[in-house]
Amino acid sequence: MKRIAVILILAVMAARPGAIGQNRQSNDSDKYVATAKSILQKVAGSTGVKPGAVELNNSCIGLGGEDIAEDGYVLVRKGKKTIVTGKEKGLVYGIIGLLKDYFGVDYWGEGEYFVAKTPTKGLKNGETVRVAPTFRYRQTQNYMMKTDTLYKWWYRLEGPSEEFVDNLWVHTCNHLLPADKYGKEHPEYYAFYGGQRHPGSASQWCMSNPEVLEIVCSRLDSLFKANPLQQTISISQNDGSDTYCRCPLCQAAIDEDDGPSGPILRFINKVAERFPDKTISTLAYLFSVQPPKVTKPLPNVSIMLCDIDCRRQTALTENPTGQDFMRALDGWSKICNNLFVWDYGINFDNYLSPFPNFSTMAYNMRIFKEHNVKMHFSQIASERGGDMAELRSYLAANLMWDADADADSLVRHFLHGYYGAAAEPLYRYLRVMEGAAVGTDVDLFIYDSPVSYKNNILRPELLRRYNEYFDDAEARVAHDPVRLARVRRSRLPLQYSALEIARTNPDMDRAEAEKALNLLEARCKEFNVTMLNERHNSPQEYVQLYRQRYLAPQTANLARGKKVTYLIDPRPKYLELSKTALTDGVYGGTTYVENWVGWEGTDGAFILDLEDAAEVSSISCDFLHQIGAWILLPEAVSYSTSLDGAVWTPFYSIELPEKRTGKVEFIPVEGRVGQERCTSASPVRARYIKVEVRGTKTCPTWHYGVGNPSWFFIDEVLVK
Ligand SMILES: [Zn+2]
Repeated sequence: MKRIAVILILAVMAARPGAIGQNRQSNDSDKYVATAKSILQKVAGSTGVKPGAVELNNSCIGLGGEDIAEDGYVLVRKGKKTIVTGKEKGLVYGIIGLLKDYFGVDYWGEGEYFVAKTPTKGLKNGETVRVAPTFRYRQTQNYMMKTDTLYKWWYRLEGPSEEFVDNLWVHTCNHLLPADKYGKEHPEYYAFYGGQRHPGSASQWCMSNPEVLEIVCSRLDSLFKANPLQQTISISQNDGSDTYCRCPLCQAAIDEDDGPSGPILRFINKVAERFPDKTISTLAYLFSVQPPKVTKPLPNVSIMLCDIDCRRQTALTENPTGQDFMRALDGWSKICNNLFVWDYGINFDNYLSPFPNFSTMAYNMRIFKEHNVKMHFSQIASERGGDMAELRSYLAANLMWDADADADSLVRHFLHGYYGAAAEPLYRYLRVMEGAAVGTDVDLFIYDSPVSYKNNILRPELLRRYNEYFDDAEARVAHDPVRLARVRRSRLPLQYSALEIARTNPDMDRAEAEKALNLLEARCKEFNVTMLNERHNSPQEYVQLYRQRYLAPQTANLARGKKVTYLIDPRPKYLELSKTALTDGVYGGTTYVENWVGWEGTDGAFILDLEDAAEVSSISCDFLHQIGAWILLPEAVSYSTSLDGAVWTPFYSIELPEKRTGKVEFIPVEGRVGQERCTSASPVRARYIKVEVRGTKTCPTWHYGVGNPSWFFIDEVLVK
């Protein structure tokens, strides 16, 4: 590549933004040089940086550029000039490193950057700085990247489409071998278990079928030819657990390799042999997380290892779920020199739930580094309003760049820059909560509810302290509307959690809760919070449901506190809860972990005893729809009544339509006298109510639990 040198005088730039390079030789066809220049112009353009010069060198000849790492850079000060040397993106990252580390420019998020009036330090004459990132590929998630192109550059992040052919980077099986094209005629291409093949868009493949190998290789051949810029493609299992093939051939490979990753890796190796100059990536995820005992990946195979089931209150080495994963990481790192780790760092069911994993994130990244991980995705969601979204993104990106950076210093630096005078109490808030996480029995899981934390990290005496910290923080920046807004946005998870916990108290103060809900609604609107969870439920829906379910005036419920006898038991882990949960007056929330009673792979039935005969005009049960957790609406529900518990009269029955939406929903199924499908036009005298539910029992082919047992969950029973 031809050497490009663009001399940029910062002082001139400050006076005449837009004048850069107008009279100079520059090669704007090189997008990285252009990007580096535009960043200098945008961010440094308004500074009082002392007159100096920056020279861009993307030839990487001399100045230590020959053995530069991917995305790395070298900064050299020679007299009045600072020379930034880097290949492609490395050149841009070098400019950012210079501005960030030597000219006091900080970038917090979404157009919010800060330029120091007095640069903290510059490179000394003759000084050379070489920088290489910990992970050669760094990916994360946050709302700012969608709205602010500079943010992604500044945090030196990459997206899958830059690395993977046709953006095929995860769960690609159905894309490469579409079930709607092959499923009907070739069920043998798909996984065998439970006595049958499971062709479907969410199915896995039979990894031993030679025709599957041929079709996939021919598909890859055309994809590589059509996308010459990317060298890597992913052949990776569809999402879902326990859906792998157990046909005799696959089972033999599973036995030899002591796990389902065996047949997968054998297949991937065969593909990798056909494309020796490309990289074939595959998942080690859920059933395939542990490495095979015998089979080793070829050098051009990349393993994308995911720690989805691990807990986050402590480092991976410090809790049992993490230790399981460590076994996988140790194993893979011994046989693969091309490891990608996918880590998870937020509550995906409740973005607005405190998730004190900041130190854990840092410990874990160092563990990945020590295990020679080359690529990293820190999936932290960071939606607007999500728990410390801006700090979380800042920390994740900085640690991916340098896993040895001091996380505590990064947190302090960010808090002081972003929240100004409010930094101190917010730092205390984070530290006290982290102490509570380490010092209590909290199980910080990525699919959970703040209600699970009400006796540990969110117990009342801690909530009181957290609120005091935030009151103090708001008071300290009361005169500064920008910072006050940032503090208030960061307080939303505390407010949301308090509301979630409040609704589990049958005697909650409804007036107080109404006030808190109105405030949450107003603030979510003010801060443009659009999503509360991975299923895309909005704050508006939440507020509306809260009013309907938890704040509505309590009408007399004949079932309240009454005994339920199960004809078909729920799953054993719900037996204890099921003694009271259906009639305790407390509704469950969007996560199935509290107040919901679940049946798996079966129908359900129970009898409710009202103790005395009463006039019954309406019977209703509340169902949860959450397909992400394999919780499907049942196929049919029926209610019948009896005076003596022996002779039953049908009251109401309904067939429910299949529901495929990814959103979490609460579906009340009510039978009312006079209504269609209700057998009676006037109230019925009854002491016993029988509820019978026909479950879907197995997950359908479109669902990623295909062929495995499905769940249904019921909460409150209302009888009027
Ligand atoms: Zn098979």
